[in-house]
Amino acid sequence: MKKKVSVFSVVLMLVMAVMLAACGGKEVDKPAGAGEGAPAQGGSAEKSAVAAAKERGKLIVGVKYDTNLFGKKDPADGQVKGFDIDIAKAVAKKIMGDETKIELKEVTSKTRIPMLDNGDIDAIIATMTITEERKKQVDFSEVYFEAGQSLLVPNDSPITGVQDLNGKTVIAVKGSTSAKNIREKAPEAKVTEYENYAEAFTALKSKKGDVLTTDNSILLGMQKEDPNFKLVGGLFTDEPYGIAVRKGDAEMLKAVNETLSELKSSGEYDKIYEKWFGEKPPKK
Ligand code: GLU
Repeated sequence: MKKKVSVFSVVLMLVMAVMLAACGGKEVDKPAGAGEGAPAQGGSAEKSAVAAAKERGKLIVGVKYDTNLFGKKDPADGQVKGFDIDIAKAVAKKIMGDETKIELKEVTSKTRIPMLDNGDIDAIIATMTITEERKKQVDFSEVYFEAGQSLLVPNDSPITGVQDLNGKTVIAVKGSTSAKNIREKAPEAKVTEYENYAEAFTALKSKKGDVLTTDNSILLGMQKEDPNFKLVGGLFTDEPYGIAVRKGDAEMLKAVNETLSELKSSGEYDKIYEKWFGEKPPKK
């Protein structure tokens, strides 16, 4: 009898310990301002970014400040401009009824998910590729831009593709898919990672590396700024861009997806695309 009781109590204690650990883990995992899979409404901790933006009177979007054509701060007037910025303004118009009710906060490839998680921003619109790995941390909208990884080299470089990168120094940006992919595509290359695209491009210009790798769309923006560089090697990955929202924020996800489909059906998407890239978007 005595033995039975003690076995029972040990089992009970174990069960309680497991339950406590499970609850504790959930609390730690849960990003501020979002419940995993929880409905968007509810207590303040579970509030949708839509409600938070309306309450504070502006939508806060994480964007790049140093990526020409997508999100770049213009030193002439201090305004951040680009394709991603125009998409962000359309989301603000949809949610706030006014595209000027927006704050554009600078993110880098490395900081964008942590900033979304801790509630610093309501969404990420920052040349961000939809990947399975990132889907574990954030929810993505429909694809709003299609890019692919490529290489940028000085015009006189002998490099023509990933096959030429053995023993070469490749410049990439921390937290980007590009930094990860290039290690798989060119395992014999030395990869040096920088904080953002401005630093990476400066490093290439000052010959701290032989080549810079990221999406063709971003490299095109650099090449436009400095025609002493060219894109080589074609596209060796698929980089579909999505707008990221906090995991489980169904209301915010719906708002961004509706914005994108309205932009497409009204023809506004094509106009924004042409404004930045000088041509109509490729037909599917
Ligand atoms: N689209 C790629 C990515 O999401 C590269 C561009 C970037 O670093 O934002 O990682």
